Amino acid sequence: MNIHEYQAKELLRAEGVPIPPGRVATSAAEAEAIAKELGGTVVIKAQVHTGGRGKAGGVKLAKAGEARATAEKIIGMQINGLTVHQVLVTPAADIATEAYVGIILDRASRKPVFMVSPAGGIDIEEVAHSTPEKIRKMPIDTRFGLLPYQAMELGFFLFPDDVKKARAAAKIMGQLYTAFMKNGCSLAEINPLVVTPAGDVLALDAKMTVDDNELDRHPELVALRDETAEEPSEVMARNANLTFIKLDGDVGCVVNGAGLAMATMDLVKYYGGDPANFLDIGGSSNPEKVVNALKIITSDPNVKAILFNIFGGITRTDDVANGIVTATKQNPLKVPIVIRLTGTNEEIAMKILTENGFSASSDMDEAVQKAVALAKGGKAA
Ligand code: GDP
Ligand code: MN
Repeated sequence: MNIHEYQAKELLRAEGVPIPPGRVATSAAEAEAIAKELGGTVVIKAQVHTGGRGKAGGVKLAKAGEARATAEKIIGMQINGLTVHQVLVTPAADIATEAYVGIILDRASRKPVFMVSPAGGIDIEEVAHSTPEKIRKMPIDTRFGLLPYQAMELGFFLFPDDVKKARAAAKIMGQLYTAFMKNGCSLAEINPLVVTPAGDVLALDAKMTVDDNELDRHPELVALRDETAEEPSEVMARNANLTFIKLDGDVGCVVNGAGLAMATMDLVKYYGGDPANFLDIGGSSNPEKVVNALKIITSDPNVKAILFNIFGGITRTDDVANGIVTATKQNPLKVPIVIRLTGTNEEIAMKILTENGFSASSDMDEAVQKAVALAKGGKAA
């Protein structure tokens, strides 16, 4: 689960990270009122779940009297396909240097890994790509946490000639680590971590991603979810208890089981197609799940063909067949559908489908090839 910058900043402030104050506004008038209260030059920042807001024009300085006009430009704008509904208004800090400090949960080492760089502010991916020597990585043993000597090592990597700044940065890294662990994060980053001309070290931007699997343990974090900032199809799927991830292709996939879903996506790619999504309807599929799955997939205008791939075990293929029949009676399909099912109650399922005008096969290769061809606008092989 992604949360907004202003929410991440609240979680980091709670651990003591020095962050300028600020409040969110949903209208230009509100932004103006906050700016007046803060006084002086402010920064108005789009609150959307994506990076690169600065480059896209979603982070702007506004002198006294300019806040309203600036907020008006930012609220409603699109950044990476997401609409800006709210802005953070915060006093502008003077910046001498910008550094990057982040923690990601690294699957390979199965540890949280610190990544820090004195070349912050811009795309850290670009720094990693062209000047990898400017990034220091450090895996953390969660039994001990970030030890003081490790924090100082990272602090000195950012500020080699300045023990005061290195100490300040080390302290912030400890606080970031605490926030990361306490809130079940898979990512927490501060970019930029700035030094002001007066020598203060401050966090000006924050990003945190909470591992969805941690949400049961953190009911207080569930309240931070902003569904208006998420992909609508993913919201729909979550509320229907389906595992769904939207992708950019045109073959809509409905599969039972995550492993088969991955294999199906691989096969779609293998035959020259592009999956429009990952969708796992789960083990015990009742017809209702299939109805919801089809609703979600057909709401994506990119989908040119739908591919069902069901391996019946606990999942009864006749349940799935009934789901397909019910769903398409409610909302007749506008795109072709290819159905592959095999396993539990296969004969019954095939009978239900053919009686209702569908054709189905039990061969996965054949079904995938057919769906790819149909998505391309060609005839099924
Ligand atoms: P991002 O582009 O989505 O990562 O948004 P950021 O919050 O990181 O802002 C992008 C850039 O705007 C930063 O790297 C800074 O250079 C600049 N910026 C953000 N806040 C301030 C501020 O308070 N004062 C000044 N002068 N620049 C700022
Ligand atoms: Mn940033």
